[in-house]
Amino acid sequence: MEPSSGKSDPANHFHADDVLFHELVHALRMMRGLMDLSKIRDWDNIEDLNAIMLTNIYNSSNNRNGDLRGDHGLPFRVLGNSPMYPTKQIDESLFYNLYSTDIDRLCLSLLDLCSGVARVSCRWNPLRARVNSANASIYAPPLAPSQIR
Ligand SMILES: [Zn+2]
Repeated sequence: MEPSSGKSDPANHFHADDVLFHELVHALRMMRGLMDLSKIRDWDNIEDLNAIMLTNIYNSSNNRNGDLRGDHGLPFRVLGNSPMYPTKQIDESLFYNLYSTDIDRLCLSLLDLCSGVARVSCRWNPLRARVNSANASIYAPPLAPSQIR
């Protein structure tokens, strides 16, 4: 994506560093042979869900919580509000729950990246929500046979 123009981003949500970050997520996945261009609602494909979510975490870590992107379209659309709480933006836990299958798949394929990003302290971090979720069984240590009764 090119840096913002007036028509695609009139409120100037895109900054050069986060546009580069988004493209670096794509580059990392390509270099590791992980590209998955399967279609997904709202995000065009799995890779753009991954790149936009990780870039949203990056923006949140820079206290740019007003620049969380809500889809892959142009003009830029800010991440929307919760269907359950229409006055509240979709928070990290709801985002994880909405896309848990795809986020789990991302974390399994890039465990090194995701385990570090999950520890980033910021307001909006669905990878932290994943770790905190009771459903994130990948982080539960397997039981030894002697522990199973
Ligand atoms: Zn992209």
